[in-house]
Amino acid sequence: MDTSNREHINSLQDQRPPGSTMLLKEVEGHDLPLSTLHRAFGANRLHHAYLFQGPSGVGKRRSALAMARLLLCLDLQDQAGRREACGDCKSCRRINRFLHDEADAYHPDLHVISRQRDRLGKLAKEIKIAPIRELQSALSLGSFEGGRSIVIIEEVDRLGLSAANALLKTLEEPLPNVHFFLTTNSLNAVLPTIKSRAQSLRFAPLNSQTLYRLLQRYESQPVSYGEDQVYSPLSDAQRESLSQLSGGSLGRALSLWSYGGMDKVESLIQESDRNGGPQDILGALEFAKRFEKATETELALWVHLLRCWYRDALVISHGAQEVSLFFPTYREYTAQRGHQLGAQRLMWRLQALDEAESHMLKRTGSNRKLIMETLCLYLAGFDALNQRPLQLS
Ligand SMILES: [Zn+2]
Repeated sequence: MDTSNREHINSLQDQRPPGSTMLLKEVEGHDLPLSTLHRAFGANRLHHAYLFQGPSGVGKRRSALAMARLLLCLDLQDQAGRREACGDCKSCRRINRFLHDEADAYHPDLHVISRQRDRLGKLAKEIKIAPIRELQSALSLGSFEGGRSIVIIEEVDRLGLSAANALLKTLEEPLPNVHFFLTTNSLNAVLPTIKSRAQSLRFAPLNSQTLYRLLQRYESQPVSYGEDQVYSPLSDAQRESLSQLSGGSLGRALSLWSYGGMDKVESLIQESDRNGGPQDILGALEFAKRFEKATETELALWVHLLRCWYRDALVISHGAQEVSLFFPTYREYTAQRGHQLGAQRLMWRLQALDEAESHMLKRTGSNRKLIMETLCLYLAGFDALNQRPLQLS
């Protein structure tokens, strides 16, 4: 982007009314890593690179952006002995737009790198070298405002090999006033050479009370999360169910919510769980087709939901009536199916979900369509025909 263009965008952004895009002053549920960062910042001893690791959708990106806002704020405030971003200076207002996921968010000293989407919205498999090269040349010019430069690289485990090697050089020879915040939900997939150059901070799954509160906040103050997502109002029971089901991930709760609500989830369960008759086999293949174009996240979500439901069935079939269920409003159907299938088949199906998930997560080009068909057939009654656990390899 040339300078005049940048200045034009800057001036447009600066005209926005203060506070209109203000989102959260704080990131919820991550007191431990955030206070570690805050302390280091207060003592002027921030490490030049941090690696935020933890499940997806818990707030790693948001935390990195909050840190960027703190480090770039032009008017730091003293709050109870802690220096905090003001939230309203030129720099903070620009970063608030990133927190809002606004498409044209821009800050000259904040570089956010993540996997790109193609024109059809499909996410690239890896982060290529080009954005790393661009980053290196931007950093070599020094910061635009004369202060710090912040780099956020999301899913650092997704860096292609040459991109990772290029980044490594930058991490090995840290430039003054450049701070890196790397995120990953797959720590094992991060190159050890990158891991060893960054201080690792763990972001745990959110507890269900925090999630419940965050969902309420989204209802009262809807913001876009990703693209084209719609959030219909939730009843208290639905909100409760969502916070239980999402396994501590706000991102997952929001995808579930925008997916069409709990009614749709329940009908998906019913469609996948069958008895093995000839119609059921055809139905299962038809059902599997729905996932041909699904993203990795959607597939993981669906597998997760089914796992929760089969777990409910197993719990009920063991007579544990008092235990809280993931699908409380679905108790009767779940009890009936749990009884019909029996403990062994419920266990097989739970294992089948694990097996399919672990194969889909392998990034070696495993045939997703085939895995989904096999899984759907198994859940549609092939477990009874096979009389053994599903094995995909
Ligand atoms: Zn500020």
